[in-house]
Order: sequence, then C-alpha cells, then structure tokens
Amino acid sequence: MSDPSGWTYDAVVVGAGPNGLVAANHLLDAGWSVLVLEAQPDVGGAVRSAPDVHPDFVHDTFSSFYPLAQASPVIGHLGLEEHGLRWRHAPAVLGHPTADGEWALLHRDRERTALGLDRQHPGDGAAWLDLCERWDAIGDHLVGALMSPFPPVRSGLGVLARLRKAGGLDLARLLLTPAADIGRTYFGGRGPGLLLCGNGGHADIPLDATGSGLMAVLMTMLGQTVGFPVPEGGAGELARALARRAESLGGVIRTSTRVTGIDVRDGRATAVRTEDGDRVPVGRAVLADVVAPRLYGDLVAEEDLPARVRRGMSRFQLDPGTVKVDWALDGRVPWGSPPEVAPGTVHVADSAEQIAEASGQVSAGTIPATPFLLVGQMSVADPTRSPGGTEALWAYTHVPQRVVRDAGDDGLRGTWDESERERFADRMQARIERLAPGFGSRIRARRVLGPRELEARDANLVGGAINGGTSALHQQLVFRPVPGAGRAETGIGGLYLASASAHPGGGVHGAPGMNAARAALAHDRTRRLLRRT
Ligand SMILES: Cc1cc2nc3c(=O)[nH]c(=O)nc-3n(C[C@H](O)[C@H](O)[C@H](O)COP(=O)(O)OP(=O)(O)OC[C@H]3O[C@@H](n4cnc5c(N)ncnc54)[C@H](O)[C@@H]3O)c2cc1C
Repeated sequence: MSDPSGWTYDAVVVGAGPNGLVAANHLLDAGWSVLVLEAQPDVGGAVRSAPDVHPDFVHDTFSSFYPLAQASPVIGHLGLEEHGLRWRHAPAVLGHPTADGEWALLHRDRERTALGLDRQHPGDGAAWLDLCERWDAIGDHLVGALMSPFPPVRSGLGVLARLRKAGGLDLARLLLTPAADIGRTYFGGRGPGLLLCGNGGHADIPLDATGSGLMAVLMTMLGQTVGFPVPEGGAGELARALARRAESLGGVIRTSTRVTGIDVRDGRATAVRTEDGDRVPVGRAVLADVVAPRLYGDLVAEEDLPARVRRGMSRFQLDPGTVKVDWALDGRVPWGSPPEVAPGTVHVADSAEQIAEASGQVSAGTIPATPFLLVGQMSVADPTRSPGGTEALWAYTHVPQRVVRDAGDDGLRGTWDESERERFADRMQARIERLAPGFGSRIRARRVLGPRELEARDANLVGGAINGGTSALHQQLVFRPVPGAGRAETGIGGLYLASASAHPGGGVHGAPGMNAARAALAHDRTRRLLRRT
C-alpha cells in the first residue's frame, strides 16, 4: 500500500464482501501480500449483522441463510471453523404455510420431507425421494460445474458422465422445465410445487422461464442435503471468520476506505486511488469485488475500457430492487396453525401461481399487490440472536427497478421515500398477520430498508439489486457480465472482476472471488515465465 513503510502489496482487493475476502484468502495462501480496501466501517458486504434494530437483538442486515456456502468447495476448503465460525440449523429447513392451515415442510432428513408430502398427497413422497436420488447422482458435480470458471471442463465432464444414472434426458428436461411447471408436471399435490417455486423465487428469473427450474431444484436439493445453515451469533460472524483467516496469513484489511478510481497505464492496472486522496500502487493485480456498473466507467475511466466491455455494459441489466423489513418480536411468530417442526426460512404466498404472478409483475415494472415474501425466523435457527422466547425476524421481497404501476391500493410510485417504504412494509406485514393473527401486537421494534438504504450500506446493491445483475439466462455463463468468455478477466491487464457480477453470480459461495484469484495467479505465472524467456 502507500503504507507508512511505502510497501507495495502484490494485490489490492477492492471490497471486503464474501467474494473479496475469499479472493484475498486464496492469494494469501499462494504467498502473495494482500491489502483489502473496504468502503464500509465493517467487513462482509451483504454478509453483516448488528444490534441496530433493537439493542437486545442481533439482526442480519442483508443475507442470512448459507446453503451455497456450505455446499461450496471454495468456502469449505478455507476451514473457517478454525477461525471461529460455528454453524447452526433450525429444527426444519424451510416451511410454506397455506391459508387453510397446512405447511409444506422441508427437512434435512429426506424421508421426513417425503412423509409429510405423502400425507398431503399419496404418491408425492415416492416422487420426492426419486428426485432426491437423481440429485445424489449429479448434484455435487453440478454445483462444482456452476462454481468453476467457464468452461467448467472437469466438473462438466463429471456431470455428463453421471447424467445417465441421474435419469439422462429426463433429468435434463426436468431442470429445463420452468419452476412454475415442475410441481404440477412431476407431483400430484401442491406441497412440492410450493417448496420448489418458493426456492426458484430466490433468483430473479421469472418462474415461467427456462433457468428458473434449475435454480428451484438446486436450492431445494441443497436444503435437503446441507440444510440452510446460519452462522451462530449473526451473519457477520461468517465474514469475520473470513477476515480473521486472511489476517492470520498476514493480509491487511482497511475499512472505511472507499476506492474512487483505478489507474490504468498501457492497458494495465497500476494503482488504486482512495477517497482520502491516497494513491496505492499495485505490484501484481487488482481484484475488484465491485458490481460491474460501478467498476466499468466509474472506478475505471470509460476511455480505459476495451470496446467490448463498453458495448456490453450499455446493455447490462440489474436484477430487481428489494425492500427488507426487520422486526424485533416479544415472542415467536404466532402462526395461526403452527407447523409441527419450526422452520428457519418461511415462504409466504397463497400458491405457486401467486409466486409466479408476483415475479412476472416485478419483471414488468409492477409492484405486486400480494408480494412473495422470504421470511427468516432467525432466533428459531440460532437462539443466540435474541432473548429466550423472542424472535429476530425479517422478510424481504423484490420490487421493480423502474416502477410503472402499483397493483396494490397504495398508489406507490417507486420513490421509496419514508412514506412509501412504511406503507409497503405494512403491506408485507399484513401478509404475515393474515397467517399469524396477533403478529402486530408482538412487535417491539421495526426497521424498513428500501433500495436506497440497502445501497447506502453496500454500494454493490445498486437500486437494491441483491445479485450483482440479473440471473436470467441472457446474462449468465459466457454472457456475465458482458458477452465474452464468462471469466474474471476484464480485458485490462492485472484487473479482475471478483464480485457477484461475474460468473456464476449472486449468493454466498465465493466462486467469483476464487475464480478471480486463480486468474490473477495464472496470468502472473505466465508473465513471469515470459519475462524469463
Ligand atoms: C437482502 C439480501 C439478502 C440476501 N440473502 C442471501 C442469502 O440468504 N443467502 C445467500 O447466499 N445470498 C444472499 N444474498 C446475496 C449475497 O449476499 C450476495 O450475492 C453476496 O454478498 C455477494 O458478495 P460480493 O462479495 O460479490 O459483494 P458484496 O457482498 O456486496 O460486497 C461488496 C463489498 O465491496 C464494497 N465496495 C464496493 N465498492 C467499493 C469501493 N469503491 N471501495 C471500497 N469498497 C467497496 C462494499 O462496501 C461491500 O462491502 C442476499 C443479498 C441481500 C442484499
């Protein structure tokens, strides 16, 4: 850095989100010296928590459940448990209540999930176990392939080799089926469709579009195999474990240090500039855990960008905005008809069709009248989050980046000022109150984060977009973030895109960070070899 000692680090990582921290760890493991510069006062990006809704409660500010981290070979390999991370699981993984008092429940024990689904519709239990068995044959390789740089040669071959055992073209067809259709095509009752559609709703792919089915099956089967674990003490404990590991290897992390520019000379990144006026020279590489529209044309000047990137970014599409509500509750959620086992994650929608309708409305610029809610009962999952018997609860839902109309009665225009935020939070809360009468009377504190509040706490969440750009098929794989090779290279020497804007996209799995670090190491090796010859 422009350290007191004048020392130049091999790598500067911009942003201490999970991807930035994974990249830093991997470079440190390879023996590089690494400086991480983070704009916010705390590390973690969208993996943070604080007692800022109520002093007796720890609330996750953004993300909460980490099946992708648990399944990710990248994060598993870091051994974060040795750096203080402890995972916790709710008694049940996921639940979806319906107005008539039934729950579709996902357990880590597949037999138990199947039993519940079979009780609701005989035959669905066996069909569920069949889906699980197909996943067993292919799941790990599919996850490996998704998390490798493109093209995923080794894992891809693994997937192909096992495809036959997993049901061949039948399974391929299932994964290509839109999420909204899987339930009714492959099962008789509504439970499996609710579980699958709700999980498909974690991405922003419309549920009647190809690609949503793969997401739905992936998230559901991960829930089935690894659960939806949470870090004990709050989401921030995951980020802190990553940071502690990096620091134990000599990495330096500077918080409250916003990077305002990246200098490029002769097509190569040479230094980063900070808000305080520092110019930090870079020995080998800059890894940007920065959302693509803020990296290209903002941190890197327009004239320094390759024409391909400039052109591609003019068509770059964000994912929708988000409104998140946090509650500190005096007791647990008073579900009118409680589930037999308490789930950590709850999906709120009357039907699979209603989830599909809400996702279609958001894509078309409409604020849903009946938003699909993802809900986290965090004290159920981890009782350390709040005093005994109380609940640290949140719910979030997606809203359009550009609002055309409001399908509800509030006439919201998408300004998301305080009045709009509060009225929309009331709409979300009413969805829970309908299923849990008396919910409102348990509220000790409530906080509403609209798109602007989310972005103020993490600049990568542009307009409240949580995934670094749409996960729709036209912006995935070789199209992410701009048409090219689907890799971390930016076309500028020594500068690598390490954020969720890179393949394979959003979620806490660390793959973009790891891919960027590997690319930086490989290029550096080649440069050194060439210099010697
Ligand atoms: C409300 C919400 C709920 C979510 N729920 C889940 C979930 O339950 N499970 C899951 O797996 N994923 C979830 N996600 C998605 C997941 O959190 C993100 O995909 C993931 O955090 C992306 O990691 P990242 O490192 O690419 O970026 P981020 O986590 O956004 O981190 C980027 C970091 O870079 C910093 N930064 C940006 N620009 C600069 C700059 N110029 N100078 C210095 N620092 C800079 C930011 O301050 C931030 O700390 C959720 C996201 C949100 C917002």
